[in-house]
Amino acid sequence: KKRTFSGVQPTGNIHLGNYLGAIRNWVVGQAQYENIFCIVDLHAITLPIDARELHENTRKLAALYLAVGLDLEHCKLFVQSHVQEHAELTWILNCFTPMGWLNRMTQFKTKAADDLDSVSNGLYSYPVLMASDILLYHAHYVPVGDDQRQHVELTRDIAQRFNSLYKQPVFTLPQAQIRDVAARIMSLSEPTKKMSKSDPDPQSRINLLDDPKVIKKKIGRAQTDSERLVKFDPQRPGITSLLSIYQAITGKEQAVIEAEFEGKGYGDFKAALTEQLVATLEPIQKRYYEYINDMAELENILKQGADAVRPIAQETVCNVKTVVGLG
Ligand code: ATP
Ligand code: MG
Repeated sequence: KKRTFSGVQPTGNIHLGNYLGAIRNWVVGQAQYENIFCIVDLHAITLPIDARELHENTRKLAALYLAVGLDLEHCKLFVQSHVQEHAELTWILNCFTPMGWLNRMTQFKTKAADDLDSVSNGLYSYPVLMASDILLYHAHYVPVGDDQRQHVELTRDIAQRFNSLYKQPVFTLPQAQIRDVAARIMSLSEPTKKMSKSDPDPQSRINLLDDPKVIKKKIGRAQTDSERLVKFDPQRPGITSLLSIYQAITGKEQAVIEAEFEGKGYGDFKAALTEQLVATLEPIQKRYYEYINDMAELENILKQGADAVRPIAQETVCNVKTVVGLG
């Protein structure tokens, strides 16, 4: 079986973008692959985060991974900082990554917002840590949202550069797995920006743990436009993003959806979308609370996951060190 690796940062509330763009696809493909899914807490400290919050978010995210249907028979689930090789390989790869390549990363530009005196070197090096995550396990596929496409490309470039420098296939070149539908869910309040955990505006996203009332309110307020036409249209990112959420959760074709709402307004569409969202999220939430209320079991699952993947990571780092002349 080919190997899949992916992760989410425990930086806040997991939202529909994370679910539809990434995590749900992990669940759908899990039986076909050998899967390693990580809670990337080392990435989470690239921007300021409260210690207690980080610790709690890490456990909550683990419970959500299980609640959405990741099956321990097919998947290893673990916390990035529990396997020290992630940090070790990152340092080595930092020394093989040209700054010019990192300067082109758009996520850094967005997150740093030109405030270079307060932003950390860790945020700049974020893509190298991500490359290490993927390359440590020789992953073939990296199922992510569209915003991570550039980072997976960079990972390939780093791997290729290293392999050709030492004239041996030390690293496997990974491929991003990005679906056509819902690969980039937009903010509900500013539909030209992607939905993000770190957006300070809580109205901008639907969290997987939002209750029906909150979902109804947020969808009700979600920005659309004055045209009142329920159609997919790149010129109208608000309604198009809501439609793509509807498309992703119902599995219907675009034309079928447009026909369904022909002659109807945004109110009807938003009511239907809310109903579908509530029906999708309710069972996930129910399972989430079961997992989060058994913390000992959750910790045990994470420990077993780290123990299972660590030998793979150790072997890669050992090999890399030998090739480079370290150790
Ligand atoms: P942050 O704002 O802290 O970066 P985030 O919402 O971008 O949080 P990440 O943990 O960085 O979430 O990303 C986890 C996964 O979710 C990645 O695969 C990413 O591509 C995907 N993802 C994030 N936002 C979206 C979105 N709006 N639409 C689709 N996929 C998304
Ligand atoms: Mg992100």
